Amino acid sequence: MKINEHYLELKANYLFSDIARKVMEYREKTGKDVIKMGIGDVTLPLAGEVITAMHSAVDDMSKKETFRGYGDEQGYGFLQNAIKDYYSGFGVKLEADEIFISDGAKSDLGNILDLFSSDNTVLIPDPVYPVYVDTNIMDGRKTVFLAADEENGFLPLPDEDVHGDIIYICSPNNPTGAAYSREQLKLWVDYALKNNAVILFDSAYEAFISDPSLPRSVFEIEGAEKCAIEFCSFSKTAGFTGTRCGYTVVPHALKCGDTELNRLWLRRQTTKFNGVCYIVQRGAAAVFTEEGQKQISENIGYYKENAAIITSALDELGITYFGGKNSPYIWLKCPNGMDSWTFFDYLLENIQVVGTPGSGFGANGTGFFRLTSFSTHENTAEAMRRLKALMKK
Ligand SMILES: *Cc1c(COP(=O)(O)O)cnc(C)c1O
Repeated sequence: MKINEHYLELKANYLFSDIARKVMEYREKTGKDVIKMGIGDVTLPLAGEVITAMHSAVDDMSKKETFRGYGDEQGYGFLQNAIKDYYSGFGVKLEADEIFISDGAKSDLGNILDLFSSDNTVLIPDPVYPVYVDTNIMDGRKTVFLAADEENGFLPLPDEDVHGDIIYICSPNNPTGAAYSREQLKLWVDYALKNNAVILFDSAYEAFISDPSLPRSVFEIEGAEKCAIEFCSFSKTAGFTGTRCGYTVVPHALKCGDTELNRLWLRRQTTKFNGVCYIVQRGAAAVFTEEGQKQISENIGYYKENAAIITSALDELGITYFGGKNSPYIWLKCPNGMDSWTFFDYLLENIQVVGTPGSGFGANGTGFFRLTSFSTHENTAEAMRRLKALMKK
């Protein structure tokens, strides 16, 4: 046999294991507990509407008349239609068969690359969600990094001199919390159309957008249906990180020559995927009911209050940061010129607060630090009280 040698080119991602090890060692040494503000996982339980729908779906499975076996690989119509209606709420018209239900955005972000030759140049922002980089290394694709930095507000824009065929955009961004405006996204859409490129748009955090002038979907931008695929997930929107459900939108208008990418993706999914659990899809559909939306926005509101607690502490301390308003992430510039890991140790040792060193997300993350708003109010407020006391000393 011969293995895919590209797997040997992958760098081990030690970021979260390094953090866990440091925290464990610190606890053993001092016996002190820590407040975790680092992990990008939600903490609130599923909404009541979701639970009720899932219970009733379990009952469906228990009766001969309502039992479901294999469903359509691309998802049940009731969920596709609920998503279609949700998109029409921000002015985006989709066909149900442009929406593919998946077990989460991460799988689809990786799987979509089946559709593209390894002979493509990929543009990836730095710092970045590591999945985009690693899945392209696995296929041996050439990648070019787009510098996201303080100067461009962590929102890189197209450079006419740099050609790319596949472009990753995550907005609102993980890890930086920065979100593209309509005008900025339009520049990327125009670039993609001109370069015959495809935008892979990760909208996992769209539900965190507060500013009504910001786009919730790339398809709000004129022309995007001809050059973009959108990946979204119930993970952060509705706390489905452990329940697993997402969706990918591949418009019929998106073509390479005469070939619709929708048709290729359908072929890929029907061959390699057998759909998402019926019970989970019922739970996901409940997110879009009136009561479901109300409950979901209460949960998101809870996290947003945490973000406000963090950003008001940073404002008070005069620490530069990005994100927080339209995102669960706060991306701060380490004070006093500390590098990311020095600041990590400084917070751990002095105030027992754990965040994520920005350098773990790419070279341009050096000197930055990510805090998340996915903790409890009590822990967030306590962490910020300690930070203020420490930095004002
Ligand atoms: C959490 C996250 C996702 C969602 O992944 P799932 O597989 O749906 O849980 C997608 N993209 C980014 C950038 C994320 O941070």
